[in-house]
Amino acid sequence: MTQPVCRIGKPTRALACVLGLSLALPALCSGFDRSAAWPLCGRISEHPPAGWEAADGCPAARFGDPGFSDEPLSSTFGPRPLYSENNRYDFHRGLDIATPTGTPFFAVSAGEVRIAGPNPSYSDPLVQLRHVRPEQTECIPGGCYYSLYLHVDAWVVEAGEQVEKGQLLGYTGASGSGFEHLHFEVRSAPPSDPYSAWSRDAVHPLRLLPYAASPEAEVTFHSSGELTLVSSRYDLVAVDIEVLDGKHRPVAQAGDLADSRGYYVRPPFFDMERANFDYSHKDSQAYPWDSFGAGGVNECPFYAEHGGSYSPHVHLDAQDPADYRRGLFNGIGVRTLRYWPSDEGDYEIGLEFQQLTGNSACLELTATFTDGASAYAQQGDCIATEAQRLPLRLTATGRKVRLTWKPETPRKVRVYRNGIPLEAPVTGNYFIDRDVSAGGRYRYRVCPLGAHDRCSRSRVIHLDH
Ligand SMILES: [Zn+2]
Repeated sequence: MTQPVCRIGKPTRALACVLGLSLALPALCSGFDRSAAWPLCGRISEHPPAGWEAADGCPAARFGDPGFSDEPLSSTFGPRPLYSENNRYDFHRGLDIATPTGTPFFAVSAGEVRIAGPNPSYSDPLVQLRHVRPEQTECIPGGCYYSLYLHVDAWVVEAGEQVEKGQLLGYTGASGSGFEHLHFEVRSAPPSDPYSAWSRDAVHPLRLLPYAASPEAEVTFHSSGELTLVSSRYDLVAVDIEVLDGKHRPVAQAGDLADSRGYYVRPPFFDMERANFDYSHKDSQAYPWDSFGAGGVNECPFYAEHGGSYSPHVHLDAQDPADYRRGLFNGIGVRTLRYWPSDEGDYEIGLEFQQLTGNSACLELTATFTDGASAYAQQGDCIATEAQRLPLRLTATGRKVRLTWKPETPRKVRVYRNGIPLEAPVTGNYFIDRDVSAGGRYRYRVCPLGAHDRCSRSRVIHLDH
């Protein structure tokens, strides 16, 4: 394995940046094996091998091979500023792959055609496929997911038809603005969602598509309070901040826990999939599907607060009136600095956490990508080296979280969950299990007794609601 590269920006204070692999995979998006084909089969139309016809489909040798991707992307999953295709600050639910009209596109996995052609819910013709997860045999709740191919010019399949992975579905077109591209989405709802057999909850499509990127990122803390993250990867899904006091103890944040509606208000994290879920689909256990209203007008849980300005296409609270490129998202300022990476490569996002509380001596940041790789950065008086830390990983079975550390490390530890010490110090032989009563997002940190300068990095885990 090659050594990850870590570049340091221009810190205003002491800054360290370390990269590594995180083993805490979100439970929200399980069930993909990344053996899919890319929708354009790795731009095969631009460089067709001899003897290959588009109608033949995508050659099987390209399935699951990250060498045959459709990069560079013109937009990835996440927030986008005003000058984007939709001409508003919005949350882009999929990938945009710029390609001339008439490019053949293919099924990323085997499945059933649910929509082919025009549909009242979409502005342009599309193809939507429903896929049964690898470990499932039918589309029971949690047993399937969807792929969606939008702005298509022509389609060669019809609803109800079964298609194989790599099968030709149709030919790409352009969106209303005339931009020639394919918009590709993946929808995957958690099993606990009673409507999870439906096409809901857009997740980062690079959870499904074969993707290989070095865990490379650059994080810079600015004196303005904003931090910027630049990466050549297209698959950032979350940025977490932890505030530590002068003794390296976590400081609990007001937004650590979901509110009574099940939503995180002014949280110390920006999770793109969580944000999209919160702002585009209500928690279906709290709100039945028909409460969304015609056309999804009541789709957002905060629609009453948005009033008439809310549109289901606007997934951030508001555009900053002073800066059209900046969104104000539930207490977090989001500036997509380079949403249109194209050949330039890097994806760049600026975040300002305006609601952090506590007299912070140290800020620790963890950025997480779709494959669990993470980038880490810190600012201030923080723990000096990674080698001094207690290594920690989290796994979950149902509502039971297991915290595991290496055997040679001290057994008597104090566990912090979302900045709050759980109880008296506990003794564990390499691991301890903790039951969690409610689903949600939890941040754990384990500290050897009396040695806060050797605490683990905090790890985040999602538990299904
Ligand atoms: Zn798009």
